[in-house]
Amino acid sequence: MTSHIILTGDRTTGPLHLGHFVGSLHNRLAFQDKHTQFLMLADAQALTDTDHDVVHRNVLEVALDYLAVGLDPAKNTIFIQSQVPELSELTYYFMNLVTVARLERNPTVKEEIRQKNFQRDIPAGFLAYPVSQAADITAFKATAVPVGADQAPMIEQTNEIVRRFNAIAGKDILLETRAIIPQTGRLPGPDGKSKMSKSQGNVLHLSASPDEITQFVKSMYTDSKHLKINDPGQVAGNAVFTFLDAFEPDISFVDDLKAKYRKGGLADSVIKQHLEVRLQELIAPIRNRRLELAKDPAHVMQILKAGTARARTVAAATLGEVKSALELDYF
Ligand code: ATP
Ligand code: MG
Repeated sequence: MTSHIILTGDRTTGPLHLGHFVGSLHNRLAFQDKHTQFLMLADAQALTDTDHDVVHRNVLEVALDYLAVGLDPAKNTIFIQSQVPELSELTYYFMNLVTVARLERNPTVKEEIRQKNFQRDIPAGFLAYPVSQAADITAFKATAVPVGADQAPMIEQTNEIVRRFNAIAGKDILLETRAIIPQTGRLPGPDGKSKMSKSQGNVLHLSASPDEITQFVKSMYTDSKHLKINDPGQVAGNAVFTFLDAFEPDISFVDDLKAKYRKGGLADSVIKQHLEVRLQELIAPIRNRRLELAKDPAHVMQILKAGTARARTVAAATLGEVKSALELDYF
């Protein structure tokens, strides 16, 4: 397998949850042993639509989540976006390689503008965030970017900027990148329908206490027609089975449970009990490591400082190439 340079990360808008574990962290844990991975705490990007105190506070929270799940600072470069000014500088030059009309056509941005109800009051920084993403990706010469399916247009936009820039430069300074789209579907909240997400408040955090895990599982939707134990039960749309599919490694065990549930004779309390055991097992070591790390925030900040210094070196080299191609190297 070819080794990639990967750029990925999270907006620092809140602590991470089980959805992130399934959708991104799990893959990053596998990638860290095979690829060169840059993990960006995207505080600057978060400022395009989130208050600065929230963004600031969550830099440490997300860093704690990364370290607690086992992302190793010796194997990854974990850094804070705003502390790499080379990224802003690249963004500034890339801004000239894309039209406002093109940004307005970006399907991801379009959808987000609709969701956030910006109407005509779109912050310019928000509209332009795909350009800043292009800077993040190209600064590290990332060859692969893990993204949700809805983010594919961002990669498209980045590659357009790369081609434009290389054409102007007359040589291939920047690299085109490709999306790695995860196989796993979106993890829902306890209703089994809507996506688990910060803004919906239907999350189970990676720092959840044993009691929060118990309450979460209790609140999960099963099948409203499965009133008596002996009634046949529905597996499709049943949140407990969706979660068992995601978190129970013994597939044939889950298949057995499903068969029994469909036939009738398996209580909701039994499937919930199985799931709860799995979730307690998964989260306990993460929570414990997180509590331990949180005792020494200065140490975590030190890790971020070292990672940021490494990231700056790489980004500065790319910026240097870009500036000299644009004849911005006067002295
Ligand atoms: P918000 O509600 O603010 O949008 P969120 O909880 O949806 O926050 P994001 O920061 O938007 O989280 O998610 C970043 C990435 O994490 C997504 O692109 C996806 O890869 C992954 N992710 C988040 N939630 C889920 C989920 N429920 N299932 C799978 N992956 C998820
Ligand atoms: Mg989201």
